Amino acid sequence: MPTERTHADACPGAIDVHPAADGGLARIRIPGGSLTKVQFRAVVTASADLGDGQLELTSRANFQIRGLADGAQFELGDRMAAAGLLPSLTHERVRNIIAAPLSDDTQTVVDELDAVLCATPELADLPGRFLVTVGAPVAGLGGDIGLIGDALLLAGQDTGLRPANPVAAVIEAARIFAAERGSAWRLAEVPEVVTRIIAALGTPTAERITVSTSPPLPGPAGDRFVVGAPLGRLDARQAAALADFPVRLTPWRSLVVPGAPDLTGLGLITDPDSPWHGVTACTGRPGCAKSLADVRADARNWLGTPHTRPVHWSGCARRCGRPSGDVIEFVATGDDYEETS
Ligand code: SF4
Repeated sequence: MPTERTHADACPGAIDVHPAADGGLARIRIPGGSLTKVQFRAVVTASADLGDGQLELTSRANFQIRGLADGAQFELGDRMAAAGLLPSLTHERVRNIIAAPLSDDTQTVVDELDAVLCATPELADLPGRFLVTVGAPVAGLGGDIGLIGDALLLAGQDTGLRPANPVAAVIEAARIFAAERGSAWRLAEVPEVVTRIIAALGTPTAERITVSTSPPLPGPAGDRFVVGAPLGRLDARQAAALADFPVRLTPWRSLVVPGAPDLTGLGLITDPDSPWHGVTACTGRPGCAKSLADVRADARNWLGTPHTRPVHWSGCARRCGRPSGDVIEFVATGDDYEETS
């Protein structure tokens, strides 16, 4: 039997905002992470006009705007639709597709996938937690369905299937999951569904690819530049400075911009030796009512302490935003932090 739940997932959208302690929280989904300069400016301006001026980067390469007043989400929705960032009201929350950020080919596949997804009515009810990955560097980030070239991945593992039309295969796999999922949110929660999808799509013949992740380091990357957002958030000044560029968001809370821009003096992460590199934090106080501490301020004060592995700060035991893998954690306990390593 699929996992039974009594509530739907609460993933926010651009209009269906989450009521956070610091106001409405809207998520602008950017399948594949690519934004033109005009689109990026529309997001930056909307945050300045309607939110708190900051931009959060999520682990699914989306933007979040915080601090929205009651009702401001409708103007936000209008602005995002005008910028081409809200192509479907029915499918908005299921457009969860991340892609290898340094490959233009992956964005082409994502665009095709997104268009077919939005045109398939029965996929509108996929859960907001459902995730598709495109490309080897993001294949290990917990996708339900994935592609590496023509290799089809299910529940994070290569199936050995190499469909002639990989986009059609992803859509068919999503259809089968949608039909069988009950109240399950993720493919791995439905017993034997991977076996049934494979049987429906063909016979696995290829040698299995070992799945991994490969985040780009901050700094030059060929004819592009990778910029990290400290603690996953751009302040208004940083967002305004970057809005001069088309950008591609990465699932590691960084952005890829063209060329070799001069970003000095902005407090962004522009090389791997930055003390911010590898340090993440949840929202914490004052944005999250559950938080036991202002984790972002405490992480700032801690900065400069030597560390050899990624570090994550959490305001409570939920550990939102914790990166996968081997991580040093600071979890607020009320009067201090529990450190786990
Ligand atoms: S980890 Fe806890 S405090 Fe932090 S954002 Fe999640 S629920 Fe809030």
